[in-house]
Amino acid sequence: MPELPEVEIRRQYLETSSLNQPINYIEVEDKKLLTTEYSSLLDALTGRQFTSTYRVGKNLFVLTDKPGIIVHMHFGMTGDLEYYHSSLDRPRFARIVFEFANGFNLGFLCPRKFERIGLIDSIDAFLLRKKIGPDALAISLTELRDRICRKKALIKSILLDQSVVAGLGNWIVDEVLFQAFIHPEQRGDTLTDSQYSQLHDAIYLVLETAIRFEATYRDFPNNFLIHVREWDDSPYDDVEAHKFCPRCGTRIERIVVGGRTTFFCPEDQVL
Ligand SMILES: [Zn+2]
Repeated sequence: MPELPEVEIRRQYLETSSLNQPINYIEVEDKKLLTTEYSSLLDALTGRQFTSTYRVGKNLFVLTDKPGIIVHMHFGMTGDLEYYHSSLDRPRFARIVFEFANGFNLGFLCPRKFERIGLIDSIDAFLLRKKIGPDALAISLTELRDRICRKKALIKSILLDQSVVAGLGNWIVDEVLFQAFIHPEQRGDTLTDSQYSQLHDAIYLVLETAIRFEATYRDFPNNFLIHVREWDDSPYDDVEAHKFCPRCGTRIERIVVGGRTTFFCPEDQVL
């Protein structure tokens, strides 16, 4: 599933390929992928240009040269973007295609049809309505602490709550807590100042690493928990060596927290 790092990579891709070109037409193969009437989408965007992008969590917003006309993209389970010349075949699964005046197209790829595109008029109002908190890469240490410090829930569940901080999915939260030396079942209101600081640093470290390696997990640094997670389900005996903490060699434990599979090091992350 595209998590914050994947959506950030798509944002950068759209930003470098598709800005400042008049839109001639929008072809939509499946209207169910739209959260706005097709005719309204065409009316609003024909002749317009994309001018900038903005991401909050897994939500991508594309601003246009007309204030109040903003495209919202959600990549669902497998959504992606592809910019290509109109003389080439339409990419597989490009069910929504923005056709630009310069002969290039931006395809919104929706293999499983969980993806969505629609118009909004205000990003702030949208975030408020959907209860989406500040972006995980943009949140300050103070804001992070203020949003967690009175919550009695377990820290893992708090971090997964998109209204507290947006963009942290299951594996990312495990990796963040591992890098921050915090047990996933520690209560939010018991975190110390130094733990908040480690948590804030770890969120940045994990997300920046994932973006830098273009979310190709096997390329991540050796001291990341993700490698253990990747091997855990393997039935082969010879992967046993991969199931230990890359820092201290303790066997990584697998538990369920708030209904989600959770990996942690019982030696480094103590309650
Ligand atoms: Zn360890």
